[in-house]
Amino acid sequence: MSKFWSPLVKDLVPYVPGEQPKLSKLVKLNTNENPYGPSPKALAAMQAEIGDSLRLYPDPNSDLLKQTVANYYGVQPAQVFVGNGSDEVLAHLFYGLFKQDLPILFPDITYSFYPVYCGLYGIQYETVALADDFSLDVSAYAKPNGGIIFANPNAPTGRLLALDEIRCLLELNRESVVVIDEAYIDFGGQSAISLVNDFPNLLVTQTLSKSRSLAGLRVGLAVGHAELIEALERVKNSFNSYPLDRMAIVGAAAAFADDDYFIDTCSKVIESRNEVTTALAALGFNVVPSAANFIFASHPARDAATLAQGLREQGVIVRHFKAARIDQYLRITIGTPEQNQALLEALKPLCA
Ligand SMILES: *Cc1c(COP(=O)(O)O)cnc(C)c1O
Repeated sequence: MSKFWSPLVKDLVPYVPGEQPKLSKLVKLNTNENPYGPSPKALAAMQAEIGDSLRLYPDPNSDLLKQTVANYYGVQPAQVFVGNGSDEVLAHLFYGLFKQDLPILFPDITYSFYPVYCGLYGIQYETVALADDFSLDVSAYAKPNGGIIFANPNAPTGRLLALDEIRCLLELNRESVVVIDEAYIDFGGQSAISLVNDFPNLLVTQTLSKSRSLAGLRVGLAVGHAELIEALERVKNSFNSYPLDRMAIVGAAAAFADDDYFIDTCSKVIESRNEVTTALAALGFNVVPSAANFIFASHPARDAATLAQGLREQGVIVRHFKAARIDQYLRITIGTPEQNQALLEALKPLCA
């Protein structure tokens, strides 16, 4: 703390990202990165962009990428917003859509960045408790609110809310914005983007960090009614005109264009998730049904923090949250078959 800080900074409670260890030998299953590399076509597009053109600013509107995403989802480019990671997209939508008189609503267990944005922008919020099995009951959101947001599949639980339930929530809630954070949707769910033309208050966010294996590039997006998108553009153009650099624009567009690679790598992750789920159950874990690229599991006879520490001592890192209701769970990212094997080998002596 310094006397030079603004009063606002003094009270901020920042988000704590998962560790990015400097040691490369670790089996890193803690931040839900994709174990397979980005599309070779995305890498080639980015390499081709490195040259004299870097002296010029990028397209401030990222039109190439917006058009590519619009084609992919069958919407208009004016219904697409892109940003420097979906975290930045979320930051802009909290400011541009959620700063209202009524509190916004989100589950008590969900992406822990949401309360951080509320703190940054002075947005009131109320949490709505998930059921004991971490499922979400949409009828619990039928009350006056300044907006609703949750991740689907949820994080860190991995549980999926079916598309017809989301439609039901939207029918119950037409007077405020509903945001579905689909960071993990490609690993087993159906995107709510198919509903944006029916509900002008629906905004869906996605990221290229997980299913498209480009966490290091920082590209995220939102799809919704053009008027919601315009709110985000107004915030973005009051903050940073060029959130996506030249490499990010061409790399992300090429990744979206390479559907074969995308489908192949997502299928491999899903197959591994099913295998790891079975193996963890055999070790005695209770595994929450997951539609994401990670598994949320607890062991009835072993303390989760102790397990995480025991894994770390064997070079395997997973995520443990010291938070209410979930402090006996581990969130384990699905890795390559070799990494998953290393995880299971390291868990065996800890669970015996
Ligand atoms: C990873 C993640 C994000 C952020 O993704 P970036 O595009 O890398 O900023 C957003 N929401 C959820 C639920 C996530 O898990």
